[in-house]
Amino acid sequence: MTRLSRPHGPTNDLLRADMISDAVEYQEGRRDAGVLFLCDHASNALPAEYGSLGLPPAELERHIAFDIGAADVTRALARRFNAPALLTRYSRLLIDPNRGADDPTLVMRLSDGAVIPGNRHADAAEIARRVEQYWRPYRNAAAALVADMTTAADRPAAIVSLHSFTPVWRGNQRPWQIGLLWDSDPRLAGELLRELQRDPELRVGDNEPYDGALVGDTMYQLGTRQGHAHVLIEVRQDLIDTPAGAEAWAGKLTQPLANALANDKIASIEFFESRAGTGRRPTLQTRDVSTPGRIA
Ligand SMILES: [Zn+2]
Repeated sequence: MTRLSRPHGPTNDLLRADMISDAVEYQEGRRDAGVLFLCDHASNALPAEYGSLGLPPAELERHIAFDIGAADVTRALARRFNAPALLTRYSRLLIDPNRGADDPTLVMRLSDGAVIPGNRHADAAEIARRVEQYWRPYRNAAAALVADMTTAADRPAAIVSLHSFTPVWRGNQRPWQIGLLWDSDPRLAGELLRELQRDPELRVGDNEPYDGALVGDTMYQLGTRQGHAHVLIEVRQDLIDTPAGAEAWAGKLTQPLANALANDKIASIEFFESRAGTGRRPTLQTRDVSTPGRIA
């Protein structure tokens, strides 16, 4: 499925094993690019043995099944940076790659008003099976890529995760075009927020429409726990639901992201204590990003 540019070493062995899984899509890029692009909710596909999880086809076209447009933005951005991208191949309704393996919402029985019949009787053994077959290969491949890229560039790889959000949630129109989600590491999120705010036409959510502090999610595992600079970018789905829209928004993000990635602060491993579970929601306006809360 992929050719590895550096054929030796344990990292590549791990990478190779996980890349064989059909749970991941890998888009080739320079290992020394300094940034890895991830898309946790790239696809609404399901493995044949699961059918449609008992859902009518229209439900699988909705945001509950995947992040509409996010895969196209991810691939386009990675191409612009000559960087690798890793995407999931199956729907979050099968198992959510952006939740911890012990998270109660890992396999959803109900999502935004839709009951998922194929998950109703998913017991612990079935969930464990989905973890091993579809969740762990993606997480392992992402971790191995980050390690491999860090070696290739001789500096810690930054991680950019692309998601998309539905324009209307429970009757409320969401005003942002883009949201940046982050836990406590302000290095990349802060710089990118400042860069995006140069455009007066853009309304950028700071930890909106969701809070980025979540124990066990992909950014928690790779960023918070491993000390790699990271940011999760949410783009509103109606802006990127066509290939042309996705390409245009990848274009809008490219220069601000390149400027943010040029920041020296991201080229080191630093640990920031997670806010998850504390209820604290710091904003960059009230936080001095030049003196981060370094704990290790
Ligand atoms: Zn998502």
